[in-house]
Amino acid sequence: MQKQRTGDLKFIQELNRSIILDTIRKKGPISRSEIAKLINISPTTVTSAVSEIISEGLVYEYGVGTSSGGRKPVLLRFNPDNHSIIGVSITNSYIRIADMNLEGKILKKVVHPTNQLKGQEFIQFILEVVEQFLMQKADLEYCQGISIISPGIVDAENGVISYNTKLNLYGVPLKKLVEERTNLPTFLDNDANAFVLAENYFGLFSKYKDLLYVTIGEGVGSGMMVNGSIYRGFLGSSGEIGHTTVIDGGVKCSCGNRGCLENYVNWPAIYSRIVTAIMTQNRDTVIREMVSGDLNRIKPDIFVEAVNRQDGLALEIMEDILNYLSIAITNTIHFFNPEVIILSGEIIQDNPLFLEAIHAQVVRKVIVPLKDQVNIQSTSLGSEFELLGAAAVILHGKFKFQMM
Ligand SMILES: [Zn+2]
Repeated sequence: MQKQRTGDLKFIQELNRSIILDTIRKKGPISRSEIAKLINISPTTVTSAVSEIISEGLVYEYGVGTSSGGRKPVLLRFNPDNHSIIGVSITNSYIRIADMNLEGKILKKVVHPTNQLKGQEFIQFILEVVEQFLMQKADLEYCQGISIISPGIVDAENGVISYNTKLNLYGVPLKKLVEERTNLPTFLDNDANAFVLAENYFGLFSKYKDLLYVTIGEGVGSGMMVNGSIYRGFLGSSGEIGHTTVIDGGVKCSCGNRGCLENYVNWPAIYSRIVTAIMTQNRDTVIREMVSGDLNRIKPDIFVEAVNRQDGLALEIMEDILNYLSIAITNTIHFFNPEVIILSGEIIQDNPLFLEAIHAQVVRKVIVPLKDQVNIQSTSLGSEFELLGAAAVILHGKFKFQMM
């Protein structure tokens, strides 16, 4: 019994500490007595927890506030710069690693092409590049840990990549492998779930409780916030929007099915359509001139520019993307009724016409009561959304920062 009680007490102390730190982060500069009132914890508990987090350098005394009589209260502020986190973002083609402060500010970044490595070779490679990165970092004692995000199905609780067909990873205990290699606490989550957290912590969408985040890059994934929490589903596979069927019997997908959304809207699919049109159909397109005939130079920004220049081929492909994507988004809206849908990806960012067009198509497809409520926005996280996603995962996992 005694042991149980000590455990409970420690748990409550840690919980209070997280809540106090989170309150200072969100509401600072704030005084100890204001914190006590705001979160309904005794002033003594606040004082002792605050001393602890000040000594750890997570919070500092900022100055004095106004007083309604008596001593002026000392104000506290969150200090994101005394500690660092290592964010790692995995995509099919790149591993991005960054040293960041506790607000996701990037201090140093490296990008490694994955060079088509898959399975065990990919895992060896990521362990090596993370270790290399750490070896060049001087102040590891202030590092709070490593945070990794990956596409595919991720068992975040156990730190396992359960299913990623493109990188050929099945049941890989990446958290454990990185911890063994680096001796640093490591957190792992699905990339789209991480982007939902990041929009909440760092972006403009913190007021929404029911939110769908769709990311379109090398694959297509989505993350969901339901009633203020990330919704993961029974096996952590919720949000696999990329594998929803948009054409019965369509193109074969890496998952084994046919006609999955991602085979029509992800960048490899777009790229291959452009190249096929140029090479085998000899299509006349401005894209060819834009890359001076070097098809390897065709990148998402070139495609977007060709759309904006009203290029026939680019418009044709874009029309299909909008059609298939709007089918999948409309199905999701009917099923889950999010308040806002956030889109990210290179073909979406800095492309207001895309947002307008997808909005129009979804409005056309949804049932009447929802037509006025369709709210589709572009990510507010900017071009470093992947690393911000990684930062958010560790802030959520280690510091228990709350959403909303
Ligand atoms: Zn599929």
